[in-house]
Amino acid sequence: MTVWQDDVARDLVQNAGDRFALLTRGEGSYLWDGDDNRYLDFLAGIAVTALGHAHPVFVDAISKQAATLAHVSNYFATPPQLALAARLKRLAGAGIDGRVFFSNSGAEAIEAAFKLARLHGGADRPRILALDNAFHGRTMASLALTAKEAYRAPFEPMPGGVEHIPATIEALEAALDDRVAAVFVEPIQGEAGVVELPDGYLAAARSLTLKHGALLIVDEIQTGAGRTGAWFGFNHEGITPDAITVAKGIGGGFPIGALITYGAASALFTPGSHGSTFGGNPLGTAVADAVLAEIESAGLVENAAARGQQLRAVIEGIESPLVKGVRGRGLLIGVGLTAPVAGAVVDAAQKRGLIVNAANPQTVRIAPALNIGDAEIEEFQTLFAAALADVQATVSADAQATMTASETGKVPA
Ligand SMILES: *Cc1c(COP(=O)(O)O)cnc(C)c1O
Repeated sequence: MTVWQDDVARDLVQNAGDRFALLTRGEGSYLWDGDDNRYLDFLAGIAVTALGHAHPVFVDAISKQAATLAHVSNYFATPPQLALAARLKRLAGAGIDGRVFFSNSGAEAIEAAFKLARLHGGADRPRILALDNAFHGRTMASLALTAKEAYRAPFEPMPGGVEHIPATIEALEAALDDRVAAVFVEPIQGEAGVVELPDGYLAAARSLTLKHGALLIVDEIQTGAGRTGAWFGFNHEGITPDAITVAKGIGGGFPIGALITYGAASALFTPGSHGSTFGGNPLGTAVADAVLAEIESAGLVENAAARGQQLRAVIEGIESPLVKGVRGRGLLIGVGLTAPVAGAVVDAAQKRGLIVNAANPQTVRIAPALNIGDAEIEEFQTLFAAALADVQATVSADAQATMTASETGKVPA
């Protein structure tokens, strides 16, 4: 164990597993560790660093705003906050009635959305629906919406009223009634392993929630800001939701999130009903506004769509018995494996200098910066194919060993 690993074990809350590397700097789609090993970053801090690392636009925005005005509290408005709110409304198609609440993370944006659902539902609508496999965060209300039992169980009781239903239109139709305040949906379930909704799900959810007077709240924390080749995941089905949550990519690495409301839902929050000390401060909003402006002017949403297709073709072209299929959209990609070896593939990739992530034991998640080009994709192809081959070699060796052992009677049948 090197010194930094001792420090991790001694000084950090032990809520996460071992760290693979101590990273010290980044540039574009590359990261370096303390021993100056270079990594191709195809995770982007879990779909966060949309422009890559140390992008001049990000660096300039943060430096200039830090030297101008960093924080004043929400007793005051600031120009960057108003600029970002207007940009988010325009990009999200929130129209004149749209409103923006700023948070510092995804989970806090979901907390705000949960409170919005309660304000809408009141005593008459105690039910809130979320989907099986949903991930909405780790704070208490966002955890209540998160499907994984193992995440929730130690922290019961949860805020009440949340029910998880299968991600089918039929299940939604059966579950919805006039006692439902809101339905929470991710356009693609990123944490679950880049799991897509059935075609037409969001459109059906829109008409069914309208019919029953429930809010449709779309969690765009992972899918938003151009990641899927559209500004937001819901754009692919042309709907208008009642609210969306964003975070991750909008700040390009600066911690910021937001709840964006549409139409009548915009009138639910009133003075005193919610707040955040840091939320919407000039530093964070200036950075996010500059990041989104760069995504717009550099055509990175279109790049995400095109590079996503290119990347998908590259992965499908890798001849490995471990690859079962490719899921996702744009630059949010899940590589489904034929065996539960995603952790081993991620380790092998990191040893070769490629950073990807195991969204679940059978899925490798790929979410690079939105501005990747041919060079990064070519290098990815080489490294990822090599990592798959490394794991395939150990899988075959294990199978061979098991077979030999059983043939010689060492392993009971
Ligand atoms: C990451 C994520 C969250 C939680 O965001 P944090 O910033 O980690 O709190 C919520 N919903 C989705 C869909 C996410 O991907």
